[in-house]
Amino acid sequence: MEIKIFVNVENMATFICPECNTTKTANVVKYMEYNSKVSINCRCKNCNFRYLAYLERRKYYRKNVNFTGTYIMLENTVIRGNLIVKDISRSGIQFEVPKQVKFKKDAILDIKFILDDVNKSLIKKQIKVISIKKNGYTVGVKYTSLDDYDQLGPYLLV
Ligand SMILES: [Zn+2]
Repeated sequence: MEIKIFVNVENMATFICPECNTTKTANVVKYMEYNSKVSINCRCKNCNFRYLAYLERRKYYRKNVNFTGTYIMLENTVIRGNLIVKDISRSGIQFEVPKQVKFKKDAILDIKFILDDVNKSLIKKQIKVISIKKNGYTVGVKYTSLDDYDQLGPYLLV
């Protein structure tokens, strides 16, 4: 049996057992990046019924953008620079820098950039570097916290 699950702005999904209607809420942010269909094998804690939950994520996606911003890394030395956010999702972004980056994978940085929403919302995030493309200019990052309450969630909900 497969049931459809909806995900809210906070990346929470409510699973309802088709057998006994017991509900369970879980954070499903880790599934948000996949482009393909996501089905999760579930087992009801109440009645042990097994079912497949299909995550309905069509409303959320990785959005291609072109926002200018800045980054700063505070470690032994301060590294700072400009960046251009190229795509954005609820769990991370990809940005480009004008000069090859000096930071490495797993580095923690603070970044800020301005959305093109009506309020020109300022987004500040602490991020962790996940990948740096071979060219040295393209950086993929994840937010260190997914609990920030800012305009990003509503922005990506289209
Ligand atoms: Zn059940």
